[in-house]
Amino acid sequence: MKTKICLIGIGKIAVDQHVPAISGSDDWTLAATVSRVGTVDGVPSYTDFDQMLADHPDIPVISLCLPTVPRFEYAAKAMAAGRHVMLEKPPGATISEVHMLQAMAKDHGVSLFATWHSRAAVAVQPAKTWLADKSIKKAHITWKEDVRKWHPNQDWVFEPGGMGVFDPGINALSIITEILPFEMRLQSAILEFPTNRDTPIAAKMQWADNISGEFDWRQEGSESWDITLETDGGLAELKEGGARFFIDGVEQPVDGLDEYPALYKHMKTLVDSNTSDIDVRPLIQVADALTLGKRISTDAFAF
Ligand code: NAP
Repeated sequence: MKTKICLIGIGKIAVDQHVPAISGSDDWTLAATVSRVGTVDGVPSYTDFDQMLADHPDIPVISLCLPTVPRFEYAAKAMAAGRHVMLEKPPGATISEVHMLQAMAKDHGVSLFATWHSRAAVAVQPAKTWLADKSIKKAHITWKEDVRKWHPNQDWVFEPGGMGVFDPGINALSIITEILPFEMRLQSAILEFPTNRDTPIAAKMQWADNISGEFDWRQEGSESWDITLETDGGLAELKEGGARFFIDGVEQPVDGLDEYPALYKHMKTLVDSNTSDIDVRPLIQVADALTLGKRISTDAFAF
């Protein structure tokens, strides 16, 4: 018997990933959507979340695909109505929001899953296992992509709370905070803000323990989503956003579900066990960069 789920915020990621992952799952059936404009063919659609909640006490799970800033109110309302909640990344516009949502989940006895889709990439757990008994001498993140390709005309990414290049960069941070056997401490950052925007388009970060990162949204053509780690046991490389794992240049076999099917599988286990999964550490790294980083101005940006 499939569990009914409602998707909120029918835009790029809902259409690209959530709808196919739910359609292809034995666990879930998409029973309603809530969005001001977006709809999914053949699925009852609402523009008013209260109305959906009133009409559908039979839908126990809400998956929120909206941008970060408007998401908190929906998550709070869903949990107050006794529904389990799945959050797209980043889990909040602020760290306090995530802590509040965590407390609400506990108070209302529902499951809250703050997803990190890149953590669900197939090579991440093999890399974590391999690194567990190694001494890490140096690590570097390269996370560069074209904002026009991945966020076409999405001005919210450059508005306060949109996090700019950290919207994708937090994917790298979600991986590295998962695989490192120690916590990261940011020492410095340089953030490039377009003169006409409120969030950075590029960043360089330096952490203790020889860990560094470069993030850039101005790369055209193919993406660079790589993390390299020099260890006492050899060179580990996670490539293509955590999809491929190499040790000393030799590709390691990996398998498993794609990222979003894996997230929905995990959500089912959380709901069945009435537990939550919330890790705010990647968001803390972004907050630390915005707190500690030196701001420099760069060319104005237009889509
Ligand atoms: P998006 O297409 O701009 O937004 C999703 C939908 O949310 C919009 O189509 C819109 O639907 C609704 N929405 C936007 N602003 C809203 C507001 N202020 N109030 C209420 N509803 C609003 O963005 P997206 O690319 O799907 O990203 C959404 C989330 O997914 C972000 O947190 C992002 O980090 C994450 N994500 C994105 C990608 C990607 O490749 N783009 C990949 C992985 C994760 P209506 O106009 O119909 O209401």
